[in-house]
Amino acid sequence: MLTVQESRYLLEIYESYMEGVSSVGPQYLALRMNVKRPSAYEVLQKLLRKGMLKKKHGKYMLTSEGMNCARRIIRSHRIIETMLYRAGIELDKACEYATRIQNEFEEDAVEKICKYLGNPKTCPHGKPIPEVEG
Ligand SMILES: [Zn+2]
Repeated sequence: MLTVQESRYLLEIYESYMEGVSSVGPQYLALRMNVKRPSAYEVLQKLLRKGMLKKKHGKYMLTSEGMNCARRIIRSHRIIETMLYRAGIELDKACEYATRIQNEFEEDAVEKICKYLGNPKTCPHGKPIPEVEG
């Protein structure tokens, strides 16, 4: 189980990966996330210990578990956001609320909501809702 802070970093690393940056360091994340380098380093160590990242030549990259976990959080975010948006909550708010609660739902519950919504393929921002294995 990741804390909200750890999952923010994990998602940032996942986004970097999707943009073609496959390994990151504390300095890179500090700049990207507008945080101090020691804070970035500390969270990277936590994600490393939790098996979400591996370290090679001083750089960190996602493990397959880390990759899956990131996809699961994004899936949860986009499904919850879709639900809130369809209920009439404006998009910015729906996104903000989804960010706050995306880690609180068990996978089973997220899948039930997804089914209830008719298995949407994209979120209201138009971004794809990723599929997760297992
Ligand atoms: Zn969003």
